[in-house]
Amino acid sequence: MTGRKGLLIMAARSETGRAGSGASDVYEVDWREELDGDRLREECGIFGIHNHPDAAAIVALGLHALQHRGQEAAGIVSFDGRVFHSERRMGLVGDSFSDLATIERLKGRAAIGHVRYSTTGETILRNVQPLFAELESGGLAVAHNGNLTNGLLLRRQLVRDGAICQSTSDTEAILHLVARSRHVRMVDRLMDALRQIEGGYALVMLTNKKLIGARDPLGIRPLVLGELDGRYILASESCALDIIGARFVRDIDNGEMVVISDDGVESIRFAKAQPMRPCIFEYIYFARPDSVVNGKNVYAVRKSIGVELAKEAPAGADIVVPVPDSGVPAALGFAQEAGLPFEMGIIRNHYVGRTFIQPTQSVRELGVRMKHSANRAAIEGKRIVLVDDSLVRGTTSMKIVRMMREAGAREVHFRIASPPITHPDFYGIDTPEKEKLLAATHDLEGMRRVIGADSLAFLSIGGLYRAMGEESRNAASPQFTDHCFTGDYPTPLTDLAIASPRQMAILAEAD
Ligand code: SF4
Repeated sequence: MTGRKGLLIMAARSETGRAGSGASDVYEVDWREELDGDRLREECGIFGIHNHPDAAAIVALGLHALQHRGQEAAGIVSFDGRVFHSERRMGLVGDSFSDLATIERLKGRAAIGHVRYSTTGETILRNVQPLFAELESGGLAVAHNGNLTNGLLLRRQLVRDGAICQSTSDTEAILHLVARSRHVRMVDRLMDALRQIEGGYALVMLTNKKLIGARDPLGIRPLVLGELDGRYILASESCALDIIGARFVRDIDNGEMVVISDDGVESIRFAKAQPMRPCIFEYIYFARPDSVVNGKNVYAVRKSIGVELAKEAPAGADIVVPVPDSGVPAALGFAQEAGLPFEMGIIRNHYVGRTFIQPTQSVRELGVRMKHSANRAAIEGKRIVLVDDSLVRGTTSMKIVRMMREAGAREVHFRIASPPITHPDFYGIDTPEKEKLLAATHDLEGMRRVIGADSLAFLSIGGLYRAMGEESRNAASPQFTDHCFTGDYPTPLTDLAIASPRQMAILAEAD
């Protein structure tokens, strides 16, 4: 389910030759790691608005603000009171939804949208969301951020019972479960479906009359409610409200479904109340720094993380250099706590993703320089401490250390503003297999040698929780989902379990 390969840059070379075109083939290149660096990837952003004359245009703006959560594809579904309209495209929101003709085809006063980065299911058009189906109780469009940890089992059971799947995405199981529910009202059917799915998920859904949002029983993935001139909005992050001047109302609670209609906002619990355990990596890397996630400003949290890191792992250095962009707030906090100058010793090129350069080996070698380049004037002859938000495979860190040395740095110390990543994710984050995680296969000294730094240190899990404003991690009931660091998975990993030989035998039988 995780650690998939492939990136979309070359899609344009299909018959249309344009990014954002509908018809495309996927050319599998592992550029992502080369160009975007060695990162975990949040896999999707969702947005929806109810009862607004420019619903589709507003959704396109909201998705644009959530582009950091998925760059491979985007889609919008609207409802004009009679018909649902759907436009799904490969590529960036700006490439696909900036032409008026497309927005005008998306008629109606209600619409939802999705930006995609795939964890399950290939990046093919039929997997681009929102997914839509006409059901007995009316049309239903679904946009999903997260990953179902029993999606495979549900799909197998549904196919065995005769379901015909249009995509290879786990999200489609939700549509089938709603279709098969014996309840009459759409809301009751949705509740029925939500009680059968497991994992981390935030959902925005559109029916004939309603905009509906739901957040998994632990609140692993984020979802917020906003309001614009009396119209209600659902979005993955508050930054998508800011871009349209909407007011932040509140976070959707864990295990809560909100039903937005002309009568206002109705809140329904579909899961028993329990302490929320949001994904702690949203604060470390995924969410935009200007977002407020579960009441915490992401930028402020990242600065606090840098302060804790400087307290725990000071470095004998002359300057602090962030690995841009996500390492900047933590490096600022580190520099302030350490009393060292903060220098932009690495300059990031923000237009790398748009290149159509063929990946020849020599270009691959240059890969990291396309994204980052050394600011020699700031670092030559200096002992530098690099600060980055996380270290996954170590490939980018290794190249950045080499680049700093080649640019004249006297010493290169590396400080990681999160604990070592030792376990893969199954809740909607694209992580490599365990054996590809550097910290899962090397001890600290081994990792230091691999990346070639003079010293290396990670923030401790205790330091991370202090930066989150907690005294310490409550081992009995952790305040956050943090299993990529701790291996403490918050829900059963049903699909992983079905991989057992006995399960595989049953499943093979089902094919
Ligand atoms: S493993 Fe847990 S903490 Fe890490 S990214 Fe995934 S959901 Fe978040």
